[in-house]
Amino acid sequence: MSENEINLFIERNLTNFSVNSTGWNELIRKLLYEFALAGWNMEYRVFGKEKFGELRCYTYSEDEILNNKLKNIKDKYSKLSVKTCEICGSEGKMRAIGSWQTTLCLDHFLEQQPVIEIDDKQNIKRNNESVLNSKDIAKAEIEYDLQSLWLYTHHEESFYFSWQEPNYYLLLRSVPLSVFPEENQNEISAIFQDLRNCEICGYKAVHQRNCLRCHHEPWNDSGYFIQDYGEKSNYIKECQMDIFIDEDDYEKYFKHDRSFEKSPGHQILFTSEELSEYEKLLF
Ligand SMILES: [Zn+2]
Ligand SMILES: [Zn+2]
Repeated sequence: MSENEINLFIERNLTNFSVNSTGWNELIRKLLYEFALAGWNMEYRVFGKEKFGELRCYTYSEDEILNNKLKNIKDKYSKLSVKTCEICGSEGKMRAIGSWQTTLCLDHFLEQQPVIEIDDKQNIKRNNESVLNSKDIAKAEIEYDLQSLWLYTHHEESFYFSWQEPNYYLLLRSVPLSVFPEENQNEISAIFQDLRNCEICGYKAVHQRNCLRCHHEPWNDSGYFIQDYGEKSNYIKECQMDIFIDEDDYEKYFKHDRSFEKSPGHQILFTSEELSEYEKLLF
């Protein structure tokens, strides 16, 4: 078995892997290389695909000893694939984009995520493309506790927006109240009239019992909070450290969100020592 034969085997089988892009090609090459070294008959084809953000290889052997070796190789590369961006091959992690799972680096994740913008001519844009102008909105509807918004134009076109997109509340605020059904108008205007400061994230974004920016519940003296955290500052510190660590990259995604004002005098309560202790508990 020569190096050249193995290389030909690898290149021939690379295309049997049904993957979204080229970011995993190096992993697939290495997997095939290990298959060849393990004793796989290189005249047979090897098949695999991406499923739920993970590389899966479906080829197996009737020979039990060989099959065990193949299984270890397949497991190893499946585990590496969920740490490798499917598009570019850089370090990545499993992410949910809408309803599908995919493994992406931060840049490619952000690139795929929708971002709402409203320019000074009142064009509503998504990912830098104009979707509609505020003047064209004929009707608006709100669903799920104000977390999703439908906008309809005079030409019966409809557009959907969700609170999971940066600038959603900026958009909600900029839609004229008169296009909403009468029964929702008070509720919508009330949100923006009574926003309170969030001691956790430092935005003026607390509505009822939830911060619309960081999604934490403000501290209150109820049994649950006292029981779990003892005192208020412990709770605020822990929430602030979660935001700072930003494990799911939410803060990086929402970096340019302009929905809420920053509250002056906001303070970070945790110390760097407390952060290191907390990280040790988490990872
Ligand atoms: Zn990438
Ligand atoms: Zn907050």
